[in-house]
Amino acid sequence: MGNNKNHSPSRKQIAEYWIGKYISKEFKIIDFYEEGAELVITDPGEPECWACGMFNHKIYDNPKYDRLINTKSCMRIWNFPEVRYLQKAHIKSRMLDGENIPSNYFLLCKECHQESPDFVDDRYFYAYICYVRKNAYEISERRTRRMMRAIYETAYQMNKNILTVDKGFEQLPLAVEKMGLHITSFSLYTCAAGVVEGMDELNLKQLSKEDYEKMKSEFYKYNIYVDF
Ligand SMILES: [Zn+2]
Repeated sequence: MGNNKNHSPSRKQIAEYWIGKYISKEFKIIDFYEEGAELVITDPGEPECWACGMFNHKIYDNPKYDRLINTKSCMRIWNFPEVRYLQKAHIKSRMLDGENIPSNYFLLCKECHQESPDFVDDRYFYAYICYVRKNAYEISERRTRRMMRAIYETAYQMNKNILTVDKGFEQLPLAVEKMGLHITSFSLYTCAAGVVEGMDELNLKQLSKEDYEKMKSEFYKYNIYVDF
């Protein structure tokens, strides 16, 4: 396994392979546009998740970005550290005899990678990509809700004051060093732990009755029934 990983193509190589290719209405890969087909890479200058479109704006702060973007070497931006959140997702996994070649990879964010099908008929993979694109807003809402629920559950368990959840998000970069990795990515509850770590301690006595009620209703939003 480890050995195969060393031989996986770079993000740049993967992106270069897929530029100008389309997913047809029948979920086949084609080289020319036909009605209903969608480009795999919508904008080579803006590396985003090929399914949900998640994009890391920090790439604009990389000093090499402006230097490269309008040149022949512009595809080098796909190897920037700011693009590492895009995972190399096998279209066909090794277990299904998928190879470590650019044509067998899509670049997806962690969430889309985890949810994408690992199935012998690759049309299901492309159908998933097209579905996520069409429903990006709903899917992002659903993921945010799942993440918030994980944070709230963890916060409740750890006796944290849920009214300070924003502070937890602010502190997240500090908590990253304390996170282990599950395979190649942070799990849902790892992220939740990172956020909760930075929140204030719960001290019910210091809360006003108003705060206390507000906190209770926050928990109820995620079906967590509190009994302080
Ligand atoms: Zn995504």
